[in-house]
Amino acid sequence: MTKQEYIDGFEKALREQHIYAVYQPQINHATGRCIGAEALMRWKDPESGVQYPSDFIPVLEESGLIFRADLYMFERACLLQKTCMEKGITPLPISVNMSRYDIIGHDFPQEIEQIRKRLAVPVRLLRIEITESSAIGGMDRINEILKQLHSYGYVVEMDDFGSGYSSLNVLKDLDIDVIKLDMRFLSGNIGGRGGIIINSMVQMSKWLHTPVIAEGVETMEQADYMKSIGCNYIQGYLYSRPVPEEEYLKMISERDHEPVKAAMKLVETMDAGKFWDTDSMETLIFSNYVGGAAIFTYQNGKLELLRVNAKYVKEIGMNISEKEFLRSDPWRYMNLENHKLYDKTIQKAIASGEEESCETWREFSSDCCGDDRICIRTSLRVIGRAGEQYLFYAMIQNVTAEKKRYMELFSSEQRFRHASEQVNIYAWEYDIATKEMRPCFRCMRDLGLPPLVRNYPEPAIEAGIFPPDYADMYRDWHRQLEEGVEHLEAVIPLTVGRVPFRVRYSLEYDENHKPLKAYGSAALVCENE
Ligand code: C2E
Ligand code: CA
Ligand code: CA
Repeated sequence: MTKQEYIDGFEKALREQHIYAVYQPQINHATGRCIGAEALMRWKDPESGVQYPSDFIPVLEESGLIFRADLYMFERACLLQKTCMEKGITPLPISVNMSRYDIIGHDFPQEIEQIRKRLAVPVRLLRIEITESSAIGGMDRINEILKQLHSYGYVVEMDDFGSGYSSLNVLKDLDIDVIKLDMRFLSGNIGGRGGIIINSMVQMSKWLHTPVIAEGVETMEQADYMKSIGCNYIQGYLYSRPVPEEEYLKMISERDHEPVKAAMKLVETMDAGKFWDTDSMETLIFSNYVGGAAIFTYQNGKLELLRVNAKYVKEIGMNISEKEFLRSDPWRYMNLENHKLYDKTIQKAIASGEEESCETWREFSSDCCGDDRICIRTSLRVIGRAGEQYLFYAMIQNVTAEKKRYMELFSSEQRFRHASEQVNIYAWEYDIATKEMRPCFRCMRDLGLPPLVRNYPEPAIEAGIFPPDYADMYRDWHRQLEEGVEHLEAVIPLTVGRVPFRVRYSLEYDENHKPLKAYGSAALVCENE
């Protein structure tokens, strides 16, 4: 149809209901429940067939007819709610579009309020969608409209958020209740820059306690991604195309419903200002210098991972994608004892509001790699809260290697201790280059030596462990070790008690046969020796 045909045919089309509303449901992707719908205009011409808004809306806007059309759509939405109530179907809020031209030279809020009152539809069942471009006519005017709509009790949604360059500022300066984020403006790569922008916007909206509805969601991948960053409300072809009234009524009478919940309130300690800067969001969650990081919600022992970065999965050492990881049960890899410890740390973080840490072991088994046990150090803190639900930011570090080394060290030290107790041996290590001596546990216990003795053997001579008449001989031994003498051995009376010990040194060399370390031992000389 031509422009002129739209203009000339408008009145008749309204009268004969060739202009009508279709409804696109909005779904909570996490629960599958319906949260509302948007009313969208259609024009079915008896000759030319169905006309789409992209063709006729601009014409109606230019010709000033849009105001009538939008009021008509609002009335249709009210009538649908009445039908719902009459049929005993629980009505869900319906969003009606308001053109930016509706605010110029008209009192849109007052007009719709009259219609609503006339039809006696509760205000909570109607929402108004405005676009960012409405602000182009001046912030004062749009704020005035918002104030008026709020005074009547309407929920106002910011449509097509993210389409303009000024999104962030507009949002900050306008008192908006719900954000509609259109995936199509950021289409292509949710894994790349588009994903980061969407994520920043969702995080930011949480900061403002403003719920987000993701629009234009066509694939499960997009919906899952939105869910993973904490945006569950979805409107798009994935769930349903806009449908005629009867079909919409059928859908909502069959599906469960739920109200749109306010976004999570974030704790005051975090700097909200940072969230205006999209780059800082990247820094916080995805950037490379943050290690393994995750965001999860926690409520009564139930933990749900919302987002993990690539490094998180890498730290865990699993050969799976972040998405696969998010789908797996976070508790699955911990035994009861470790699960309890983790839970306790969460409780501590909730109570203190500070960062708390724990180390937990997790067991993985896979067909390819067999069983594996890893130890993860987690530092976590609360970043948000909604009722009993907490939002956590966690950083992790795989400390398995460190732990295993420590355990090996501990067990070898213990083995050594048992052996030396049995054979009455004292042992130590002497580093040729640094002149540092490391005594065994028994030396430390019986002779009161510290774990590291510098400038050896002087402190041992000074302490009288090696008596003065043997001091020079013992010093000479260390000179000989420096020169590379392989083996030294003598019976020396030790300590003030002058107890005879067989003292031995054996030398270790590096690959160039340079002396590296000497291993000393002192064994009690048996009476029959
Ligand atoms: P909008 O307000 O952003 O509405 C959403 C549009 O996205 C609708 O197009 C809807 O059919 C489409 N959509 C929903 N899910 C998907 C999806 O998964 N993929 C894709 N590709 N599209 C999806 P529609 O109905 O053609 O409306 C286009 C625009 O026309 C609307 O965009 C709105 O700006 C305007 N419009 C529609 N009805 C009205 C109205 O009653 N009054 C005014 N002033 N404008 C209207
Ligand atoms: Ca809209
Ligand atoms: Ca939109």
